[in-house]
Amino acid sequence: MDAKTCLQKLQYIGVLAFATVDEYGAPQIRNISAIHYEAEAMYFFTAKGKSFCKELLTDGRVQILGYTKYKEMIRLSAKAVPAMEHEQKKWIDTIFNEQPYLSNVYPGDTRNIAGIVFQITDAVIEYFNLGVNPIFREHYTIGNSHISFKGYQISESCIGCGACLANCPQRCIQPGNLYQIQQTHCLHCGNCYEVCPVKAVEKRG
Ligand code: SF4
Ligand code: SF4
Repeated sequence: MDAKTCLQKLQYIGVLAFATVDEYGAPQIRNISAIHYEAEAMYFFTAKGKSFCKELLTDGRVQILGYTKYKEMIRLSAKAVPAMEHEQKKWIDTIFNEQPYLSNVYPGDTRNIAGIVFQITDAVIEYFNLGVNPIFREHYTIGNSHISFKGYQISESCIGCGACLANCPQRCIQPGNLYQIQQTHCLHCGNCYEVCPVKAVEKRG
């Protein structure tokens, strides 16, 4: 798996959930399908009058979520910015050519009056596959983005009692002098954190 394949899978899903935060700090989520994909970038269309546009122009942070029929969750955490002014028409036409239904929504030139295209070229991508055994997760980036790892890790306080492994639903903890969590197979459920008798399991991020 890699960033490019994740974007291809999102394109295959087609309709994605886009989450932003409004001016009152409340979560806002909507489905978007007016998207054009490049190898390591996304361009999406909305209307300037929508609250979604206002939230993107004010804050810009967006999380985009897709879920495949194979139980793969793909999440982008990104900053969306308006595409370059002189490229707006090109991207609007590209998206409308790829999604003909949009011409019914914004017929004629209305697309260019109301419309705006945002681009995402910097993002952290989280891939989480619940359809395999053990489960699999990994992070990738496009552009300039920094991954903040979440989940759990085992510190040097570990006494090797094995309680974490015995209670791990994915059996993804490697025994040893210091037990070690295999991060790519970890659910982030926190069972190991709950049962460790010496508090050797720490939260990450
Ligand atoms: S439960 Fe805690 S002390 Fe025991 S093996 Fe796991 S991390 Fe180490
Ligand atoms: S968080 Fe859950 S899945 Fe991950 S190592 Fe701990 S018990 Fe296992």
